[in-house]
Amino acid sequence: VVIGASIAGLTAAAAVAGQFDEVVIVERDRLPDAAEPRRGVPQGEHGHVLLVSGARALEELFPGLAGDLRDAGAVTLADLGTDMTFFRYGVRYRPMPLDLPLQSFTRPLLETVIRRRVNALSAVTIRDGTAVSGLAGDRHRVTGVRLEDDLLEVDLVVDASGRGSRSDRWLADLGHPAPGAVEVKIGVHYTTRLFTRTDGDFTDGRCVLVLPAPKTERRVGLAFPVEGDRWLISMGGWHNAGAPASADEFRAYARSLPYRPLSALVERAEPLTELATLRFPASRRRHFERLRHPAAGYVTVGDAVCSFNPVYGQGMTCAALEALALRSTVERHGPGSARLPVAFARAVARIVTTPWRFATGGDFAFPETTGPRPAGIDWLNKYTEKIQLAAQTSVPVRRAFINVQQLLAPPSVLFRPAMVAQVLRASRVVAPAG
Ligand SMILES: Cc1cc2nc3c(=O)[nH]c(=O)nc-3n(C[C@H](O)[C@H](O)[C@H](O)COP(=O)(O)OP(=O)(O)OC[C@H]3O[C@@H](n4cnc5c(N)ncnc54)[C@H](O)[C@@H]3O)c2cc1C
Repeated sequence: VVIGASIAGLTAAAAVAGQFDEVVIVERDRLPDAAEPRRGVPQGEHGHVLLVSGARALEELFPGLAGDLRDAGAVTLADLGTDMTFFRYGVRYRPMPLDLPLQSFTRPLLETVIRRRVNALSAVTIRDGTAVSGLAGDRHRVTGVRLEDDLLEVDLVVDASGRGSRSDRWLADLGHPAPGAVEVKIGVHYTTRLFTRTDGDFTDGRCVLVLPAPKTERRVGLAFPVEGDRWLISMGGWHNAGAPASADEFRAYARSLPYRPLSALVERAEPLTELATLRFPASRRRHFERLRHPAAGYVTVGDAVCSFNPVYGQGMTCAALEALALRSTVERHGPGSARLPVAFARAVARIVTTPWRFATGGDFAFPETTGPRPAGIDWLNKYTEKIQLAAQTSVPVRRAFINVQQLLAPPSVLFRPAMVAQVLRASRVVAPAG
């Protein structure tokens, strides 16, 4: 049984569908046929970028998915380096080819297209409109999932119920300890609206991301082209940078950003939806890999393990990578093995550790961020700022940085002596303002 039919639950179910006679996904929401936001996934109204490594992992799980997304209206960005306008530290980064194609879509579209593929798997059933209320089992093993009026007996439970997972309580009822958790308080907010999109609306590229230069700036703005000839435009920021609550405030927020073409786009385009707002007080990671005796028959994936600052766009990618890891761990240990939870929790830790450090490291560049402070973070953030300045003009530095940010390469590539020399040299070149 998989608890939750969002990105983590759908990908996990697809990953192990070949290894179980039956996989049941239990989802509390009634699932809509159309690609529209739903209650259990409130973040679905906001911009979601799928990193290149996430797109590759999803393609491995669902061969041909990029084509399905294109057919459903997703917008293809031929190259991240030339199609995405990136603005930070007072300049628009020079467009340069990076050979990294990307697709742009709403979060509900991605979920709908993946769900269609999962529905086509004969071993998988989705029971929507059904909430899990607890687990059955004992101090050694989870053996079932409690529904309001039913009990499902299982070989394996996959908790994909997201950031609000109740599993600590459910496991405690069976006598299992909760994993240790860490929180980094970031006070992020998002306000999003969809607008009409017409050719020539925005001439500086095909989408735009404006990020703040810590410590003086806190605000983020982005505009992505999505299906249905629409712009998805979000205004956000760290540490309560003043979430816009009305159309006027939304426009004023866009004007307060240092990149004029984005506010011009907000002025010009016609709104199609109301404002959607979401507050994200803290990133949170649960360390299942540190449990000495985790419950047999129970594993956790997705935001229920690690819920990252959304600005870095890592959650769906980690979920897809974890699904692939679940497949190989089940293949290696067998579906009912008592070793499975330990081995899988370690695999998940290997997947999330780098993006967690990447995200929380960036967050600690803001002095208001609180939480366990990684050793050497001030020094690291100074070097990261130099990398980002160098990436404005240097092709090798931009390539290396983007490959790390897209989870295609380990951060160590940025610390090789030749790269450090390039970073230090290129960060002194002043890019033309604009
Ligand atoms: C504002 C915002 C922006 C984001 N932007 C990005 C981005 O750009 N890129 C990116 O990769 N990620 C982004 N993320 C993160 C991304 O949304 C998640 O990582 C992704 O959705 C995977 O989450 P999940 O499947 O683990 O959980 P969720 O998406 O939270 O889904 C949990 C599911 O479990 C169901 N459920 C919960 N409890 C029960 C229960 N008791 N019984 C049955 N069902 C239950 C819920 O209804 C829901 O369907 C963003 C997040 C936020 C908040």
